[in-house]
Amino acid sequence: MALTFCCTASVPLLHQGQANSELSGKKCLQEVKRLVKSLGIHSAASSPVDSLRNGNWVKLICGASFEDVVDIRNLSLVYTLAGVDCIDCAADESVVSAVHEGINAAREVLPVRKPWVMISVNDDEDLHFRKAEFDPQECPHDCPRPCESVCPASAIPPWKDKSAEVGVITERCYGCGRCIPICPYDKIRVTTYVRDAATTSELILKNNVDAIEIHTSGRNASRFRELWSGLEESAERLKLVAVSLPDMGDSTLSSMEEIYSIMKPHPQCINLWQLDGRPMSGDIGSGATRKSILFAARLAASRGRPKGFLQLAGGTNNHTVAGMKKHGLFQTKSFLAASMNEDAEVGSLQALIGGVAYGGYARKIVGRILSSLQSQHGLSCVENHPEYLAEALQQALSLVGTVKCYDFIRSNFTGAHHEL
Ligand code: SF4
Ligand code: SF4
Repeated sequence: MALTFCCTASVPLLHQGQANSELSGKKCLQEVKRLVKSLGIHSAASSPVDSLRNGNWVKLICGASFEDVVDIRNLSLVYTLAGVDCIDCAADESVVSAVHEGINAAREVLPVRKPWVMISVNDDEDLHFRKAEFDPQECPHDCPRPCESVCPASAIPPWKDKSAEVGVITERCYGCGRCIPICPYDKIRVTTYVRDAATTSELILKNNVDAIEIHTSGRNASRFRELWSGLEESAERLKLVAVSLPDMGDSTLSSMEEIYSIMKPHPQCINLWQLDGRPMSGDIGSGATRKSILFAARLAASRGRPKGFLQLAGGTNNHTVAGMKKHGLFQTKSFLAASMNEDAEVGSLQALIGGVAYGGYARKIVGRILSSLQSQHGLSCVENHPEYLAEALQQALSLVGTVKCYDFIRSNFTGAHHEL
């Protein structure tokens, strides 16, 4: 059932022209604090592991290739206040630092629980690990630039004077690939890359990283084995190892078993399987989430699958929870069989699905407020503009709250504005 609500709190809207008012800013910051407090987000009661067990784990995916540190910092701040359990980012030192900066800034607003910081790596070529590029000098001057309008990351800047020096802003491109087939002149090339195990290990050892996610096609175990052997030592420091894999139909389970057998000698981490339904498509529309839900339904029903929590990703958006409910997957608990997670007691109750990771959709709903902030105030820390922070937080809560089941309606919102 779709829930609807509108905010009755006195958060001034940006278009009301009060963005620069000090008084308005103070009121907005108070409102941010009140919202977070009233929803109990600052409570330390639910650890990320408890969230996985209860089926209300939420992960923000900044993007395995997204490296715009200003956006990443502000996104991390907003979603930390919204109560996510984990923030997943590129395995890059400056990006990890930006995530920590955002988390710390959020905790200065209110002492909310610290989400885990996860880095994403790959064992082979993978859609999430690529960058588009083109030379604007090669583009016909009368091109209507469909590449610019299709890019969900604003990675292709406007061509105001028809002499742009930049084709793709590398750090903003996250490899979705939508610009490639749409170019009528076939000018866009793609560079793929594989994260190096030694550099990743160094990052884990020195950068306060809690978790890692390994993206794999599941079709080449030797590549997974090679990467894992390079990470093994540093992985001992981690709280969680996630494996992100696509739906391979009938061979999915056997691939998971093979991957698990490679990792099994080091079971000190909690293991999580990220079910990547339709990669990088959550912002496209309601149907994008279907594949991930069907993937999860099949795996949740399978017997004898390798240990580890299940988590949805790939196409997840504001329709995901409704779809999970329809399939009996949302926070449905069952007695833990021997084939679930490592450290929980067999026979205890645990959610069939640990939770949901949100990427493109989460970035889109908060990103449009951050880009409005940027166009008005330049590269800014969002907490210095509380009216933007308040609005960004409401957007983040409208997504995170569907999984966390915050008591929106009774405490803060009534009526009908945002569709959940
Ligand atoms: S459309 Fe996708 S692949 Fe192309 S520049 Fe934008 S983010 Fe990169
Ligand atoms: S669509 Fe192709 S030719 Fe046109 S501006 Fe974009 S890259 Fe250049």
